[in-house]
Amino acid sequence: MMFTRFAPSPTGYLHLGHAFAALTAFDAARIAGGGFLLRIEDLDSARARTAFEDAIKADLKWLGLEWEEPVLRQSQRADAYAQAIAKLDAMGVVYPCFCTRKEIAEEVARSVEAPHQIALGPEGALYPGTCRKLTKDAQRARMQSEPHALRLDVGKAAQMAGRLHFEERGAGPNGEHGAINCKPDLFGDIVLARKEMPAAYHLAVVVDDAFQGVTLVTRGNDLFAASHVQRLLQALLGLPAPAYAHHRLILDANGRKFSKRDQAVTLHSLRDAGVEPEEIRRRLDLTPPV
Ligand code: GLU
Repeated sequence: MMFTRFAPSPTGYLHLGHAFAALTAFDAARIAGGGFLLRIEDLDSARARTAFEDAIKADLKWLGLEWEEPVLRQSQRADAYAQAIAKLDAMGVVYPCFCTRKEIAEEVARSVEAPHQIALGPEGALYPGTCRKLTKDAQRARMQSEPHALRLDVGKAAQMAGRLHFEERGAGPNGEHGAINCKPDLFGDIVLARKEMPAAYHLAVVVDDAFQGVTLVTRGNDLFAASHVQRLLQALLGLPAPAYAHHRLILDANGRKFSKRDQAVTLHSLRDAGVEPEEIRRRLDLTPPV
């Protein structure tokens, strides 16, 4: 049976872009006679608010969406993330990183003088790997007293996992479709967890998609690149690989993604202005499944 999901962060009101993502996931499940799941990605405790969580559910109900219970909240999943990290650690592909953001920026700036050394990823310069080179003794000593993040040694991990691909049923930003060969090192040595956060985005998504039994991940094609490293984590953790259907992004008049600051297009304000849910579907060019 097919299971899809919508996984918003409760850091603001939903806007038209979220409505498109949620309706796309819901419709895909409906058409296949499957189930639609909801996951609240509230790991960023500084920004997540339960009031937004309630507003998200109210907006989704207003749109006519129904989801399977229970709703999964990432803030309740620290043990599952810790287990996954312990498994990766036992494989020897995790290392502690003591670098601050400032130190990383300085290191990257220094290597501008030797441009062949700077690797660029979808989000800018990649972590230069400074702490990967620390000895085990140095790691242990510093872990006693210094705050640190945990990173994946992606080179080693990719070698262990061998060749991987993921199945794209929608389209990536450049029309990618079908069996996609993974480039797991696109984001470099990703952060798996931070001192104040039990799991970073990629790890939490992979662990939770498997836990919830998601078989088709539908999401915006701005996350297409993320699927490469997420597939690697699935392989390392021995989790099933869902299929993917990345979709177009809903852009504003300036061709930019809506942000949480665009109050005018929140579902909340559209509803207050008397817009009907059918009109939202029309605006998004999404016909309801029959
Ligand atoms: N929480 C993410 C977002 O709001 C979506 C995660 C995902 O679909 O993988 O963009």
